[in-house]
Amino acid sequence: MIKFLDPNKPIETCISGSCDNCTICKTLHCHFTLRDLIYFLLIVFPSFLLGGAGIYHISGWLLIPWLILIIGYFGFVEIRVMCSHCPHYAEQGSTLKCWANYGSPKLWRYRPGPMSGMEKALFWGGLAVVWGYPFVFLLVGMQWFLLMGYILSSTGFFMTLKLFLCSQCMNFACPLNGVGDEVKKEFFERNPRVAEAWVSKVDGE
Ligand code: SF4
Ligand code: SF4
Repeated sequence: MIKFLDPNKPIETCISGSCDNCTICKTLHCHFTLRDLIYFLLIVFPSFLLGGAGIYHISGWLLIPWLILIIGYFGFVEIRVMCSHCPHYAEQGSTLKCWANYGSPKLWRYRPGPMSGMEKALFWGGLAVVWGYPFVFLLVGMQWFLLMGYILSSTGFFMTLKLFLCSQCMNFACPLNGVGDEVKKEFFERNPRVAEAWVSKVDGE
């Protein structure tokens, strides 16, 4: 059964006694729901469907390496380099229960604070490989109609993600994060453990 955090209970890193009257929840997503997860899946699905169709058109066997890449990246690599910096990662339990990467295992410790240069490179490199793999087959197979659909749906996904999800995400370490400084400051006041990690890591650079 799909489970999410109790929406009335502050997250692990938050020192507030309750989420009542907290203005942050109007701008930041501290808790996630099934609706958030479905929304995320709906925006990412079209590009995966069109990319998968393009690969299948060349050979169904070629879908296997792509699936391995998807599972390896979203199940492990991205979790290590990006999600392990997210306050949501500090929650109890052995898997993530958020709007994206739901169910991915938490094999590493929570590491608040910014991502390193190497982590950012792996983050971007992984995205390029996952979305680039179908692109190659669409191009080489001269599947122009599918290629156009793939480019449009992928662009639509990243634009929707950036505009509506990354602008409310509490993982300030992610290179796609678009939360403003005022909201970050408010969040840091209620989440001093996260704030300290940012101060010490930035000062230590
Ligand atoms: S910052 Fe803390 S109190 Fe405010 S919504 Fe998030 S978890 Fe609740
Ligand atoms: S960064 Fe996003 S996908 Fe990763 S744990 Fe945080 S909310 Fe979930």
